Amino acid sequence: MTRSIETVTLPTGEAIPKLGQGTWEMGERANARKDEIAALRAGVELGMTLVDTAEMYGDGESEKLIAEALGSLREDIFIVSKVYPHNGSERGVQAACERSLKRLKTDRIDLYLLHWRGGEDLEGAVAGFEKLKRDGKIRHWGVSNFDTDDMEELFALDDGNACASNQILYNVARRGPEFELLPWLRERSLPAMAYSPVDHARLPKKSVLNDIAAARGVSMFQIALAWVLQQPGVCSIPKASNVAHVKENRAAADIALTREEVAQIDSHFRPPKSKQHLEML
Ligand code: NAP
Repeated sequence: MTRSIETVTLPTGEAIPKLGQGTWEMGERANARKDEIAALRAGVELGMTLVDTAEMYGDGESEKLIAEALGSLREDIFIVSKVYPHNGSERGVQAACERSLKRLKTDRIDLYLLHWRGGEDLEGAVAGFEKLKRDGKIRHWGVSNFDTDDMEELFALDDGNACASNQILYNVARRGPEFELLPWLRERSLPAMAYSPVDHARLPKKSVLNDIAAARGVSMFQIALAWVLQQPGVCSIPKASNVAHVKENRAAADIALTREEVAQIDSHFRPPKSKQHLEML
């Protein structure tokens, strides 16, 4: 029997599913639309109710796809969207949010993130996020691609510690955040949202992941995803544009890797021994 998906807790106490769905590169091709809609709906039906998007994705097309695929399920889903750094100012985030709300055909975004650092006015962006929260247009705000020093800078600002999550590149082949950033986030009960959990389908074709997968009769993608989901205080948003991949990803959330399997993975994909700068895709 399928178990319900575990959750992680936002600093406000709200629980979100450990496994959600990404949508980068979705909504951009007419001939893929039917499959993508089916995939997103199947994911929600399977409990992957957190759906990640951004104003950047397909220049707004991903947000429109979510409205079309999941509009009727709005009350069941938790929408994460992101604002470009060049819109990262007090007025900029408010204007960008209004545009995203229109494309998403909703009255609120559940978690609104600054996509990456790049010439934004961080203090202004935080003030804009807080205003959006007061106005009921967003429920939580957070950041993405913020390394530890960026988080320190954010937390030194007024209301900076109201940040609800940091979405980062983290998977079995990119373990840099384990040395400093993930412990920093955990100390503050701030969930990390791991993006590209199967490394954008670029994991090595042959590795210990295949051996573990073969022994369990699953795919190496599922083992890679199960490994991410097993990390404390981490949730993840794999992108899958067909129902078969969505089902596999959902099943991965029920895989509990053994101590021996984790040790095998560590011997091939080594944990960091020193600080590494946060990578991004
Ligand atoms: P990903 O989820 O690691 O990988 C997606 C790729 O893996 C797709 O080619 C997908 O194929 C394939 N895949 C997924 N499940 C599979 C399965 N069970 N078996 C075989 N192949 C499978 O990479 P991602 O899209 O880069 O990251 C996930 C999400 O994170 C994005 O969609 C986006 O929402 C977010 N993200 C955020 C940032 C940021 O800067 N904040 C950056 C990158 C990504 P199909 O599509 O054919 O199913």
